[in-house]
Amino acid sequence: MDRLTPVEQRAPGRWQLATVTSIKQETPRVKSFRFALPMWMPHLPGQHYDVRLTAPDGYRAQRSYSIASSPLDEGEIELTIDRLADGEVSPYFHDVVVEGDEVELRGPFTSYFVWRGEEPALLVGGGSGVVPLVSMLRHRRRTMPELEMRLIYSVRTGEDVIYADELGDDATLTFTREPPPGWSGHSGRIDLEMIAAAGAPGIAFVCGSNGFVESASDLLLEAKYEPRRIRTERFGPTG
Ligand SMILES: Cc1cc2nc3c(=O)[nH]c(=O)nc-3n(C[C@H](O)[C@H](O)[C@H](O)COP(=O)(O)OP(=O)(O)OC[C@H]3O[C@@H](n4cnc5c(N)ncnc54)[C@H](O)[C@@H]3O)c2cc1C
Repeated sequence: MDRLTPVEQRAPGRWQLATVTSIKQETPRVKSFRFALPMWMPHLPGQHYDVRLTAPDGYRAQRSYSIASSPLDEGEIELTIDRLADGEVSPYFHDVVVEGDEVELRGPFTSYFVWRGEEPALLVGGGSGVVPLVSMLRHRRRTMPELEMRLIYSVRTGEDVIYADELGDDATLTFTREPPPGWSGHSGRIDLEMIAAAGAPGIAFVCGSNGFVESASDLLLEAKYEPRRIRTERFGPTG
């Protein structure tokens, strides 16, 4: 009898020990972490991983983080984490985790907030809500650069722009608190004019805090986006 070919166990629900291979300081509050995964499997842009920390006394904290990288980066993923001053998990990543450390991860998860490459997209992100949208941008640049994709990105100040060196003509920024010196582009919250200028290239992905997602979705509806073409992801407090 033929022997069965051994198949490596890969399942999104299983915890695995990932190794931090590099850390990049994106902004004063945000760092990107690259992880090598022993049970890596390809994700769809928009999906997230769960991260679990265990204290010496057994206390555990678990949070979700969107994947920033393209699934073409085989064997690894990038997570980008905003440091919340009074947070439990995000300051640990910023203040404690160094290259070579091992961290428990499982994923990828979510089947709704994903871009499958099937149609053009409008991406609307606030703060760290840009993370899964950048996975979509990065993947589209490497697979189908001719497909229309636009990012509207709302940040507080010039120093809060994550992935600043990667944002090109396909991104429109607005600064809600303090634009950088000499800035002649948009400032203030995303408005109908910005949405209208981006056209309605297909499906819309909106990601950010609860409040951001509410107001951006309302604007898309005002701009006559059909509700079924608007997908949202909220990075709200975990409670
Ligand atoms: C699907 C999904 C994907 C996510 N992806 C990312 C990501 O790519 N990058 C990222 O930085 N975060 C992401 N988040 C948020 C992340 O899961 C955590 O909620 C966040 O890092 C805070 O965790 P903490 O332990 O540091 O703070 P906590 O100890 O949970 O909270 C500390 C304080 O901050 C408040 N708070 C908690 N979360 C937020 C928040 N998101 N915004 C503002 N205040 C908050 C709490 O109410 C509390 O007062 C995602 C969340 C979800 C559900």
